[in-house]
Amino acid sequence: MARGVQPLFLECDRSQVITCWIGIAVYTAMNIWFGAWVVMNLDQAGSWPWLLVLTTLVALFVADVMSGVVHWATDTWFDEIMSERVISIAREHHLHPHHIVGYGVRDYIAYSAWPTMIMLGPIGMILTLLPTPSPVLFHVVWSMFIISTCMYFGTYAHRLGHKRSEWAIVRLMQRCHLLIDVRHHNVHHRDNHDVRYCVITGWANYVCDRIGFWRGLERIIHRLTGAVPRENDYVWFARYQPHSPRRGKYVIGPLGPDGKAVMTVVEANGGSADHPRGAVHS
Ligand SMILES: [Zn+2]
Ligand SMILES: [Zn+2]
Repeated sequence: MARGVQPLFLECDRSQVITCWIGIAVYTAMNIWFGAWVVMNLDQAGSWPWLLVLTTLVALFVADVMSGVVHWATDTWFDEIMSERVISIAREHHLHPHHIVGYGVRDYIAYSAWPTMIMLGPIGMILTLLPTPSPVLFHVVWSMFIISTCMYFGTYAHRLGHKRSEWAIVRLMQRCHLLIDVRHHNVHHRDNHDVRYCVITGWANYVCDRIGFWRGLERIIHRLTGAVPRENDYVWFARYQPHSPRRGKYVIGPLGPDGKAVMTVVEANGGSADHPRGAVHS
């Protein structure tokens, strides 16, 4: 654990430990499988090195988007009833951002392992088991290998957005915008925590935030399900930082029959027209 940092949810029970390690083991096996397939089919790479470079750059961008999807989803839609420890750690991260440096490698990898497997596993298995490889298939699987490998370090990269690295090579990569740095990621931790979700290179933040990608997805999901974005995050702020000048003032009532707290905003501070925080959520 980093000196002087006391994460709130470091302890985990046996089932949580087993879930972490199963995720890491299967995820590692999947990534090794993708890598082995690429090596076995190198003859399909073609004779255009620039195409491989282009594919790699696109894959790095998509990996950054994927890190943003995982971060955005946990910040926006889930609560600790759905996944107690994972979501509690995510909420803790907004209340005490520096606590991220106190978690260990198992938690860093496991956080990305399950979402990456769900997003890449089924399609990756189908593609790599096709009987006839082709150059197009090679570049797709190569991309999946790059994305999957980057996601391995996704949460660690997020950590680099909170603490200056002691490694010169990491600082050089940050200066070259190959990894996020503290200044870039700090913007996420201002105000509503609803921008700069991507935490590997940060490249995708410029695109996703500029085009309103996350707000667009939220509007669609809200219309389809009625769910309120960041509702659970607001509840945590109401509970633990009720008078935060950044978050407005909130009052939360007792837990309802569904186990969720009823929250009322008494003094809005920001928010959006689509999801005014003056509403009472349950
Ligand atoms: Zn966040
Ligand atoms: Zn952060």
